[in-house]
Amino acid sequence: MTLGSAGASGQEQWTVGADGIQPRPWSGESVDMPTGRLHAVSGNGLVAGRGLCLAPVTLLDPIDWTWPDDGGPEWPLCWICLALTC
Ligand SMILES: [Zn+2]
Repeated sequence: MTLGSAGASGQEQWTVGADGIQPRPWSGESVDMPTGRLHAVSGNGLVAGRGLCLAPVTLLDPIDWTWPDDGGPEWPLCWICLALTC
């Protein structure tokens, strides 16, 4: 990883969206957790409520979710969004 002058690659900060939200028991209380796949959301997508792949998404809290780091077995990353951000 190079910091500094090594060419601005336009590193963008993606917001994370999910196919849906569902309340789940978590540490004794009900917490809204994403269901389905995670999608990357751009600035325009925030307004439109759509991921980069144009799927309608429910936005997740950027404090708790980062793209693409928070994907996993339970929340697979949308491969279209992944292709568009990598
Ligand atoms: Zn997507």
